[in-house]
Amino acid sequence: MTGIQQGSTPSTNLSYVSPAPDSPWGTYLAQLDRVLPYMGDLARWSGTLSRPKRVLIVDVPVQLDNGEIVHFEGYRVQHSLSRGPGKGGIRYHPAVTLEEVMALSAWMTVKNAAVNLPFGGAKGGIRLDPRRLSAKELERVTRRYTSEIGLIIGPQRDIPAPDVNTNAQVMAWMMDTYSVNVGATTTGVVTGKPVSLGGSLGRVKATGRGVYVTGREAMRRLKIPTEGARIALQGFGNVGANAAELFAREGCKIVAVQDHGGGVYNAQGLDVRALTEHVAAHGTVAGFSGGERLESEEFWDVEAEVLIPAALEGQITEARARRLRARLVLEAANGPTVPAADDILAARGVTVLPDVICNAGGVIVSYFEWVQDFSSFFWSESEINMRLDQIITGALKHIWATAERHAISLRTGAFVVACTRVLEARNERGLYP
Ligand code: NAD
Repeated sequence: MTGIQQGSTPSTNLSYVSPAPDSPWGTYLAQLDRVLPYMGDLARWSGTLSRPKRVLIVDVPVQLDNGEIVHFEGYRVQHSLSRGPGKGGIRYHPAVTLEEVMALSAWMTVKNAAVNLPFGGAKGGIRLDPRRLSAKELERVTRRYTSEIGLIIGPQRDIPAPDVNTNAQVMAWMMDTYSVNVGATTTGVVTGKPVSLGGSLGRVKATGRGVYVTGREAMRRLKIPTEGARIALQGFGNVGANAAELFAREGCKIVAVQDHGGGVYNAQGLDVRALTEHVAAHGTVAGFSGGERLESEEFWDVEAEVLIPAALEGQITEARARRLRARLVLEAANGPTVPAADDILAARGVTVLPDVICNAGGVIVSYFEWVQDFSSFFWSESEINMRLDQIITGALKHIWATAERHAISLRTGAFVVACTRVLEARNERGLYP
């Protein structure tokens, strides 16, 4: 017999990656392992979740401002297209690898299905340090990369969006390049665009808003009063800063913030608006005068009811899971908790609201943007926020009930909901030929 059998481990032996257990793809596979016992007969399709459907590696040659030609490595991975076109962001970061992009694309499959959007899962990235490139160089990189992945993206095939170090401007360049190549303005090829180019109101803040809405609901269920609740936040970019603003408005105290440049602490709560202005001016929270300096590892010892990782994967390691003081972890980042840390947190009674629901606000509003672009009919921001809140709280309720019914973690509950939907679609479509 070949292939994955019912109930067997989905671990793959792909020839092009061999992930370590705590690596992002290793983490994803371990999360998937925990779901199979709940998949019944659908488990026979689990091999479609444990390997990406399509992987594209592209060379991105670019001329720098000084005339030098350099090459970057870029990726677009379509993990699953079973429920619809691929959907997922584009990351620019010096640590991007194929294996990381594979994991991020798989989490998009799970996220899109967990909130019941008609999308598969995809992700892209280029290994580069955007801080070392000028705006013109970044534009050339973006345009060449878009042209290279143009083979497999499109409004009905796969729709990129912003992720770490990419933004509305990068999406505008991508939309323009794709449109020029196909000879027709195609706004629906990417989401997270500027509003003037078919972007959606509310998209920039949507992920942070989703973290806030799901976080507030989790706090209500865990009987953590929002008024005065202390929050420690790692990552003060698009997601972290927008979530912080909403939590602060609700009366929570953002006591600690750490980013790539350093950390700040204020037991009375940091002034989020002033911190945002500081980051806009200096590029990091480090050196903010409204708090004390926080050394890198001290961040994990901060006393707070809620911890929000909103930076990169693999931040909550086993050792940090033993130390951290929070009762609730809101996974604003993708894949911030390694599987062994998940177990430690569960044993310590710390609730983890998993990434696939906690940070789904961005892709939900991306979905709205895509729908608006198709119909060329645009909604008001209050309508968008209202629909976002409705979808994300409805999905959270369903996931929470599933987790309680099976006495499993919220993460495994979210995976059960999502993987059932993906594998049902796979089963109904059948195999070609
Ligand atoms: P961003 O580039 O706007 O911000 C990233 C933040 O992480 C910055 O504050 C940066 O300083 C910090 N950071 C980077 N390396 C760090 C390190 N080693 N230690 C501490 N902090 C570090 O990115 P973003 O869009 O806010 O994304 C943050 C996370 O949220 C990522 O995991 C991303 O995949 C996830 N996410 C983003 C969206 C979205 O709509 N942008 C949607 C869903 C999930």
